[in-house]
Amino acid sequence: MPIDATRPYDDQNIFAKILRGEIPSEQVYTDEWAYAFRDIAPQAALHILIIPRGEYVSWDDFSARASDEEIAGFIRAVGKVARDHDLVEPGYRLLANVGAHGGQEVPHLHVHLCGGEPLGPMIARRSQG
Ligand code: 5GP
Repeated sequence: MPIDATRPYDDQNIFAKILRGEIPSEQVYTDEWAYAFRDIAPQAALHILIIPRGEYVSWDDFSARASDEEIAGFIRAVGKVARDHDLVEPGYRLLANVGAHGGQEVPHLHVHLCGGEPLGPMIARRSQG
């Protein structure tokens, strides 16, 4: 069920629990700013979720409230995870769903990193006519 991205941060969301280690996850990267783990229902050969350690509902919330340090740390972590998985030469896709129209389901900012195979069109094509 897509979320309302303007609502306050809920520290009981599933990714907050993953960050606190209350729910298991398959870690692929961690540092001061970010945590990355495998998506439980992968939609590509490689499907990783990267989340900031801070409490941000969405990309909108993060870009408005996070410090420059947090933003730089998070963005660098996303790039590093891709490089660590040798995705730069074959290429990969980043995606951040925001709110209802974006189809965001978990109210903690997450960037989807997909790769490991050709990914096809970015979103379903609109039907013609
Ligand atoms: P959204 O639609 O919010 O952009 O994407 C949420 C993603 O989180 C989905 O791809 C879904 O498979 C993944 N996900 C939901 N719950 C869990 C979980 O408990 N563990 C992991 N690893 N991924 C989850």
